Amino acid sequence: NICTAQVLLAVIAGMYAVYHGPEGLRRIARRVHRHAVVLAAGLRHGGVEVVHDVFFDTVLARVPGRAAQVVAAARDNGVNLRLVDADHVGVTSDERTELLHLEQVLAAFEVSGAVLTDLDAAAHDALPEALARTGDYLTHPVFHSHRSETAMLRYLRRLQDKDVALDRSMIPLGSCTMKLNATTEMEPITWPEFAGLHPFAPAEQTEGYTELVRELEGWLAEVTGYDAVSIQPNAGSQGEFAGLLAIRAYHRANGEAGRDVCLIPSSAHGTNAASAVMAGMRVVVVACDDNGNVDLADLDAKIDKHRDRLAAIMVTYPSTHGVYEETITEICERVHEAGGQVYVDGANLNALVGLAKPGEFGADVSHLNLHKTFCIPHGGGGPGVGPVAVRAHLAAYLPGHPLHDDSPVGPVSAAPYGSAGILPISWAYIRMMGAEGLTAATEQAILSANYLARRLAPHYPVLYTGRGGLVAHECIVDLRQITKETGVTVDDVAKRLVDYGFHAPTMSFPVAGTLMIEPTESEDLAELDRFCEALIAIRGEIEKVASGAYDKTDNPLRNAPHTAACLLADDWAHPYSRAEAAYPLPSVREAKYWSPVRRIDQAYGDRNLVCACPPLEAYED
Ligand SMILES: *Cc1c(COP(=O)(O)O)cnc(C)c1O
Repeated sequence: NICTAQVLLAVIAGMYAVYHGPEGLRRIARRVHRHAVVLAAGLRHGGVEVVHDVFFDTVLARVPGRAAQVVAAARDNGVNLRLVDADHVGVTSDERTELLHLEQVLAAFEVSGAVLTDLDAAAHDALPEALARTGDYLTHPVFHSHRSETAMLRYLRRLQDKDVALDRSMIPLGSCTMKLNATTEMEPITWPEFAGLHPFAPAEQTEGYTELVRELEGWLAEVTGYDAVSIQPNAGSQGEFAGLLAIRAYHRANGEAGRDVCLIPSSAHGTNAASAVMAGMRVVVVACDDNGNVDLADLDAKIDKHRDRLAAIMVTYPSTHGVYEETITEICERVHEAGGQVYVDGANLNALVGLAKPGEFGADVSHLNLHKTFCIPHGGGGPGVGPVAVRAHLAAYLPGHPLHDDSPVGPVSAAPYGSAGILPISWAYIRMMGAEGLTAATEQAILSANYLARRLAPHYPVLYTGRGGLVAHECIVDLRQITKETGVTVDDVAKRLVDYGFHAPTMSFPVAGTLMIEPTESEDLAELDRFCEALIAIRGEIEKVASGAYDKTDNPLRNAPHTAACLLADDWAHPYSRAEAAYPLPSVREAKYWSPVRRIDQAYGDRNLVCACPPLEAYED
């Protein structure tokens, strides 16, 4: 999805392959397999039946009536085995398995006298011959070039240098809440006590985690004003899905299974409609008025039309337009009156924490984004955590897990506590901030957004504001008129910002042709000013296009971003100077970010998967 992705996990897995290469991965796999083979040989030696003749890393042992006893004995030895049923035990080895572990496991099966090194010498592999891989894999040079820690470190650094990340400048992505991921919050997730626990470890081994989860869920319930919270969903979008499943289950339990219409305002985040469809609902769009608010007349019309089948409304507060919609309680009432439930998308909670509670202004269920409001890193990164919070009448329908409890709704992710490994980040954030700190952060985030809106307003129109001309925690600057008059587009401004050393704001969401800016409380005044000065300088460049001082098509905006390669080429044919291109403000000279690429055709890129590494023909045969 947009804000959360499993990209960070994919990168970690990718780097594992980069470092070990194909031969290293094969060596690791062979070692894992040999440990499984030796274990199977040891079991057979002791008269225990091994169910399968072929296997990779997992041995299934048949011990009629004794399985629980074996698992308990192993647990006493510090090894967790899988209790399959009363007669079967599953044992898996991995790259950290040692012979000592095998001895502990065999002891649990009451096998004695097995000499593991002898068994190793005698036992044949148990891999099915026909499935053996014969072709090459991971042939790209990257999987063969970085084999020392020094080389790996430099490779990672080289990749990092291509990015505009939060360690370089603010990332003003509206709706994404790119705030500080503090070192103190991040450090504990590498501790083995948090990182090394299996999601299905026995309850008595997970008391610490259970306490952390309960505390965090309790704090989130208090912050949001709801009665119950589940941290199982791995993303905001998955929280939406879980929340809608709860609504459906609730209607079903009330004998109203036919309620399947979900009202969604036209301004909603794309995930809302997608989640509703996944939950088996029919989406009906509600219009917004000229001020960007839900059009109450249209809401009434849609409610009337679908009254008998109305399941829910999904509404974002503050809205995706960055405004506190004052009719929110009325919207909740009208939907309730028609028998529907209210889902408030809580991704914008950074504008609410400590100031207002969605659970108290009429909503029945919300998701939160711990990877936005509560400091888990994200944005082409993740993994995220999208807790779903509900009022009491929906609590029974929160996600559960068949290996953990018996919720009627079942799981939305593979593990009972989802991405439990990153919960210490949000726990530490809330614990360190305390109630006063969290409220102060919200106030600062709102103040910063309004500061930006006021400083930019003389240069770019701010699209939507609420009462008193104020915005919430983000603001939309409108380039549509500027584009009409000068031909300079949001893309041009976004790409030119890269030359100034900034990541672009959110582009064309929720309104095409606009930029949505969210500074968060993490940016200080100096950084906010640096960002404003960049956008104001860009406005000056747009004026030069308008006045004819810059060429209509060959100008620093349209050609942005400028790479070192294009600036240092012997031929420079553009009607503006290289210095204007690279150093548009004196401050940019001090810490210049060099874009690694020039502009690409975005629409083409989105529609055509292109491997940037070896030519595609290399894969032809
Ligand atoms: C980020 C966001 C979502 C989705 O959250 P993910 O974690 O990216 O799935 C939903 N609604 C709004 C308003 C958001 O900003």
